[in-house]
Amino acid sequence: MKYLILLLPLILFEGDAGTAEYRTPNFIVICHDAALAVEIGEAAEYYRAQLSEAWLGESIPNWYSPCPIRVRISNDAGGGATTFSFDRGEVFGWDMQIQGTPERLLDSMLPHEVLHTVFASHFRRPLPRWADEGAATYEEHESEKNNLRLIARRVVGTEQQIPIRKLLVMQDYPGNMGGVAVLYAQGFYLSEFLINQQGRQEFVKFLQTAHQSGWDSAFQKHYGFKTQEEAYTAAYRDSLHQAQEVVSRYQIKMFTGPNCQRCQEDRKILQPALKAKGLILEILDYDQNIDLARKENIVGLPTYIIYENGKRIAKLRGSQSAASLLRRFD
Ligand SMILES: [Zn+2]
Repeated sequence: MKYLILLLPLILFEGDAGTAEYRTPNFIVICHDAALAVEIGEAAEYYRAQLSEAWLGESIPNWYSPCPIRVRISNDAGGGATTFSFDRGEVFGWDMQIQGTPERLLDSMLPHEVLHTVFASHFRRPLPRWADEGAATYEEHESEKNNLRLIARRVVGTEQQIPIRKLLVMQDYPGNMGGVAVLYAQGFYLSEFLINQQGRQEFVKFLQTAHQSGWDSAFQKHYGFKTQEEAYTAAYRDSLHQAQEVVSRYQIKMFTGPNCQRCQEDRKILQPALKAKGLILEILDYDQNIDLARKENIVGLPTYIIYENGKRIAKLRGSQSAASLLRRFD
């Protein structure tokens, strides 16, 4: 599940008049757009095969009954949910719902939800929420991950965070939206750190060890940390270190003026987006920084100048989207 779905009632999927259906060996896609149904069906099979190989090192056999994917195209923040049941080591009763823009459906919601099904087929038992969601988010587009990194930076190391001993054993989602978002953010934060250390397949083995002999010994065996607290602290230090590295490497200056409406709009969106990546947007009033503005030949507002290690690497005139600006720092 992606947490944003909780904001939107599932009733949205009612009323199936005029829907197209597309069948593949393991999925049945139900969508109002017939062409998109085909694309999603083919992509779901692709992700199922590719993610099995990447995470398990092997393919999983076809399911006895296919998993329905109910698709809703929307322009708002996307989401998804997949439900299934376990009984004596078997998985059944698949049902997947995804919504979002066609682009995000294909590059984020679908791989996220498909990885849940791959894990269910492999583990045949419910996984701790942090790890299931953390791993699924790892397969999403950078823009989605950045939303969670922003929340993680806000809460980790503060009283708002879920203590590690509680986080690791949570089998259910917190009862309120804020809590759910924090669970996703911390789950992703820790998962990403571990997966970046030893790869996807080691993470799967680590979850198996934890199930058999507890978290501390799993952290010890797979990552060399004595305890879960030590692992969590290492993840925290690593994220601080990365943030500092990127801050000292890049400087981003925005030239603005009191009557520049687009500057205000840009600033509202760009400042938090950059901050989530550990970057600082420096706001410079044109008139108050006239010498630098002349030196940099600023002729319109806003203008952005990006420096890397003190050297100017880009000058961007006019309003910028967060996505296009952030791509420069990947
Ligand atoms: Zn999920």
